[in-house]
Amino acid sequence: MNAEIIAVGSELLLGQIVNSNAKFLSEQLAELGVNVYYHTVVGDNPDRLKSAITTAESRAQLIIFTGGLGPTKDDLTKETIAGHLNTSLEKDEEAFKFIKDYFIRVQREMTPNNEKQAHVLKGSHVLKNEQGMAPGMFLIDESHQYMLLPGPPSEMVPMFKKYGRPAIEKALGRKEIISSRVLRFFGIGEAELETELMDLIDAQTNPTVAPLASDGEVTLRLTAKDVSKENAEKMLDEMETTILKRVRPYFYGYDDTSLMDEMSKALKESELTIACAESLTGGLFQSQMTSISGAGAVLKGGIVCYSPEIKKNLLDVSPNTISIHGTVSEPCAKELAENVREKFDSDIGISFTGAAGPGPHEGKDEGTIWIGIARKDSKTKTFLLNLAGTRNGNRARTVKYGCYFLLKELRGEGDS
Ligand code: ATP
Repeated sequence: MNAEIIAVGSELLLGQIVNSNAKFLSEQLAELGVNVYYHTVVGDNPDRLKSAITTAESRAQLIIFTGGLGPTKDDLTKETIAGHLNTSLEKDEEAFKFIKDYFIRVQREMTPNNEKQAHVLKGSHVLKNEQGMAPGMFLIDESHQYMLLPGPPSEMVPMFKKYGRPAIEKALGRKEIISSRVLRFFGIGEAELETELMDLIDAQTNPTVAPLASDGEVTLRLTAKDVSKENAEKMLDEMETTILKRVRPYFYGYDDTSLMDEMSKALKESELTIACAESLTGGLFQSQMTSISGAGAVLKGGIVCYSPEIKKNLLDVSPNTISIHGTVSEPCAKELAENVREKFDSDIGISFTGAAGPGPHEGKDEGTIWIGIARKDSKTKTFLLNLAGTRNGNRARTVKYGCYFLLKELRGEGDS
């Protein structure tokens, strides 16, 4: 089966947003073995949308639309498709009730154009929107399949994963099940990981192994096909075991997780609390940590100790340490981690101090960063980073390294 993705929205053509929906859907369709030969972007204009549909119908069986399902006048995807297919829109009572209940909940008046969002293509299979208001649709006619999804990725992605993808799988009528799993690595470059696994990647057929690098992390997507889900999962397990035998020290989690998620989870499981002394990260570590629900159980708090005075006055770093070694130093990171832990009476203290750039700081090259991890009854550990990114890239990477080192410590892999 061939598919085409049509993203609708003038803001895409004006360069105001990136077509990340097409990227996501292409990845998903590739996993299903559906070929995507074209991505089309079209503005909020019914004539041009109609012409894009006609073109897509000439070269694809499955056409997926994103965007233009909202309540406003320029949201006209389903109306245009209905006109093109000579069919009508009808109110979906379940979606309508959902929208009505939403307005009652937020104590706002529902306007007639909101009702328009509950209208779906006649004969379509409705895809529930659990994150927003506009439902999606899947319509099958003799020659084509049309899937309509909302524009906001926060609505489109969960809708596709939960309802859209299974509907396509069913329509494909395949006997084979496709199972996939993402393994996430940190602290190893893509080239290095590929070198370690070259023979596995080269020999791949089923399961396939696909590496991808982003934001200092590398992921491996393993995909297996089999008539039984159990067998497909078993094949993934075996491939995972082979891979981890070679590169386990860098592995931190599966699928959509993050280093911060895993580290926070490990703290919670160990019933440990943490406090932070943040210099170059300026609160980034704590901000990310508090974005995870349940952070209150593990994060006691912290101090943004950007200036040397605050390091001395609030966190008791010795004046000698600063005058002899400077703030970008191992002794400073160590004292910061130990003292913040003590002041906040937490089990763990973590510190970040360094030269984020651009340019050197206190004579230390940009990208020179120290992280300290202090625990109640053990020797404080320090880690030196030499990063080569932009200022904010270095700050973000520092937070990731902090999570990574602490995670390894909590998993008892701290010395590997
Ligand atoms: P809404 O009910 O929010 O209006 P909609 O289905 O009508 O949803 P649009 O109005 O087309 O969708 O887009 C809403 C927002 O969704 C856009 O402003 C943009 O932030 C995001 N968006 C739309 N299309 C895409 C896309 N292809 N890739 C990434 N983001 C998108």
